[in-house]
Amino acid sequence: MTSDYAIIGGGIVGLSTAWGLLKRGLRVTVLDGDDGSFRASRGNFGLVWVQSKGMKQPRYAQWSQDSAAAWAAFSAELNDATGRDVGLEQKGGYDLHFSEESLEATVAKYEVLKETLGGNYPFEVLGHNALRREEPAIGPKVVGAILHHQDGHANPLKLLQALADDVRRLGGVIMNGMHVTAVDKSDLFRITCADKTEVRARKVVLSAGLGAMTLGPMMGFKAPIRPQRGQVLITEKLPKLINRPSLIARQVDEGGIQIGATNEEVGLDDTVTQRGLSGLAAEAIAAFPALAKAQLVRSWGALRILSPDGLPIYQESPDMPGAYLVTCHSGITLAAAHARFLPDWLEGADTAPNLEVFSENRFAIS
Ligand SMILES: Cc1cc2nc3c(=O)[nH]c(=O)nc-3n(C[C@H](O)[C@H](O)[C@H](O)COP(=O)(O)OP(=O)(O)OC[C@H]3O[C@@H](n4cnc5c(N)ncnc54)[C@H](O)[C@@H]3O)c2cc1C
Repeated sequence: MTSDYAIIGGGIVGLSTAWGLLKRGLRVTVLDGDDGSFRASRGNFGLVWVQSKGMKQPRYAQWSQDSAAAWAAFSAELNDATGRDVGLEQKGGYDLHFSEESLEATVAKYEVLKETLGGNYPFEVLGHNALRREEPAIGPKVVGAILHHQDGHANPLKLLQALADDVRRLGGVIMNGMHVTAVDKSDLFRITCADKTEVRARKVVLSAGLGAMTLGPMMGFKAPIRPQRGQVLITEKLPKLINRPSLIARQVDEGGIQIGATNEEVGLDDTVTQRGLSGLAAEAIAAFPALAKAQLVRSWGALRILSPDGLPIYQESPDMPGAYLVTCHSGITLAAAHARFLPDWLEGADTAPNLEVFSENRFAIS
């Protein structure tokens, strides 16, 4: 079978990109691995998040803002097409602080970024009492919060399902259980899987998450990515307790409180640990003391896909023109950008976003 695009990896990055390409009338085949793969898209925290992104690279802050701004129309379109509500809520989010010093230091950094962005960085600082008016369940140890108005959250599993449904409805092919082992190019790209299945395509997008650690160098990319473990907890469904999400806890659309996530450099190990989970629970209880009585129903570990500077990588292969590496640490936040704007970049359109700062040229290593 021949496609305009073969997408290697059917996580949130591959599917949102596939969806955007299909919307432009292109033929797309998605080759996705199996349940033995590491799959960040199924284990993440669901934030559509702007604050703290791009503190050292304002273009990343803007890219996240562009995506956050495109999210409402993106989710509405998915909802109309599939009947699936992906649970988007964008009424701001908090960075909660337990000390005045850390709050002030973060605010100082945000002020610098705000100036660099020409003032477009809408946040406000809430002291404890102001925060308590917004979040009656907040605990006394929280001295205050930064409320950033471009932040929000969604249900990442429902997003994944809606995208998969709509990719198929739009005529895209999703092949599951396909472990790509080789990519070569003559007139067309030939993508070969472990079971000898072959797919031919005009262009290839490598969005295989941590799978790009192996496939990337074979396709001429540096792909200097690494795993970072995040452990996450979720409680039973509860009556409304938390109004806006934070990096510590959020109440999901179905009522449970999701608590997370650790940041651990442990290689390709996605197990949970007593220490990791206890630390998360203690911090969440410090923020929202009522959680001490909540029943925990599930915990899991998942691996982030991190570049050395934490920014996305968008790179065309110097060895195989027409092959692109697309990988990022914030695939939920950037789903709307990947669906709406990235296809123009892949197609070399005049309207393509400038993604130069996200190329692999920034990495000295080969
Ligand atoms: C704990 C945690 C919390 C997070 N919280 C947030 C958050 O709040 N907000 C946010 O925006 N982001 C968050 N993220 C990051 C987000 O989850 C990822 O950026 C996103 O899921 C990456 O999607 P992906 O499609 O690149 O990778 P994945 O979801 O890992 O998908 C990669 C796919 O490629 C396939 N694959 C791999 N190798 C091959 C191969 N050789 N052949 C074929 N297929 C292959 C796999 O089967 C897999 O399905 C979090 C991540 C973690 C771990």
